[in-house]
Amino acid sequence: MNLHEYQGKELLASFGVAIQRGVVLENIDDLEAKYNQLKEETGTDFVVVKAQIHAGGRGKGGGVKLAKNYDELKEHAGNILGMMLKTPQTQGGLDGEGKLVRKVLMTEDSYAPDFDACKEFYVSIMMDRARKQNVIIYSTEGGMDIEKVAEETPHLVHKEYIDPTLGLQGFQCRKVAFNLGLSGKAFKEMTKFISKLYAAFLGSDASLFEINPCLKTADDRIIAVDSKVTIDDNSLFRHPDLAAQRDKLEEDPAEVEAKEYGLSYVKLDGNVGCMVNGAGLAMATMDIIKLSGGDPANFLDVGGTADAERVEQAFDIILRDENVKCILINIFGGIVRCDRVAQGVVDAYKNMGDQINVPIIVRLQGTNADIAKKLIDESGLEVKSAIILQEAADLVTEAIS
Ligand code: GDP
Ligand code: MN
Repeated sequence: MNLHEYQGKELLASFGVAIQRGVVLENIDDLEAKYNQLKEETGTDFVVVKAQIHAGGRGKGGGVKLAKNYDELKEHAGNILGMMLKTPQTQGGLDGEGKLVRKVLMTEDSYAPDFDACKEFYVSIMMDRARKQNVIIYSTEGGMDIEKVAEETPHLVHKEYIDPTLGLQGFQCRKVAFNLGLSGKAFKEMTKFISKLYAAFLGSDASLFEINPCLKTADDRIIAVDSKVTIDDNSLFRHPDLAAQRDKLEEDPAEVEAKEYGLSYVKLDGNVGCMVNGAGLAMATMDIIKLSGGDPANFLDVGGTADAERVEQAFDIILRDENVKCILINIFGGIVRCDRVAQGVVDAYKNMGDQINVPIIVRLQGTNADIAKKLIDESGLEVKSAIILQEAADLVTEAIS
């Protein structure tokens, strides 16, 4: 689950990580009063207005604006609220439709009054699955596209791996501060920043923290100016406060609905819809579709109970994607018998009538696979069946070519 920048910053602050002071706005009512209050708290007239959408690169699309006074603030806040913001990360990029901005964050400009004395860094934390360790990735080249920095100047991107049994050590925090070229107060502040940031990462069961830029201010404080936070969905049961912050409006509507049905669904860009039971089988199914020349339109795990209702919900979700040219149902009947699943498919198909307008290929393997195949073949429906996965994949290739 992704958090908005302002939510991520609140989370960081609750672990003692320094952030900018600010307020979230959904409209510009009482803007002047809110501005004056922020001015009083921070002692600066300069503020930044930032679109709150689940995509980075907002600065490039005009979603981050500086204001030196109330009039400028009013203009920018008015423009950004309600705009369709296009960034390199929204769908279709800068040429796409963009995303509706429903909220803006107004924060103090932490670069004022001495912009030139500030320094932007890049800091992120994630899990390196191959090394089975969390890693802090950091760079002196903050504020810009880190992928580009990694490609063009890889020596400027540093990594610090954390031993899970020892945890983050003091010397590692000092190494980060040293490699970022800091000394004196800024050095100390950075070691504190890193250690608190890591505590926040662990404490919130996050799978990604990206602070870009992480700022050294003119008076040598270290603060998070931006935050991209992803919380591991599987841990949300123990973070009800974070789970409550989910912004469904930012997520793919089909994915949100699938979640309500208890289906694990991830939309992809291909044209072959997949309906599978079990995550591992779903991955293998996507692999074989790809190897046979197709392109999966989604990942979908219907879970253990693939009855007619489930199958119908899954059809419904998959068919909303206009790119889908055919659907491959691949079920392994272990605990759930294949004939029951086959009956579910037949019933769902009959219930849905002409809503199903693409070829369906069913591959059932496991308990009672033969009976299941017979059931499908004799149903009189436009459904092709196979027992061997490769045969099913070939039927898919045929259907889409
Ligand atoms: P992103 O474009 O979505 O990554 O949004 P950021 O929060 O990173 O903001 C984009 C850029 O705006 C940053 O890289 C900064 O250079 C600049 N920026 C953000 N906050 C401030 C601020 O408080 N003061 C100033 N002067 N610039 C800021
Ligand atoms: Mn950023």
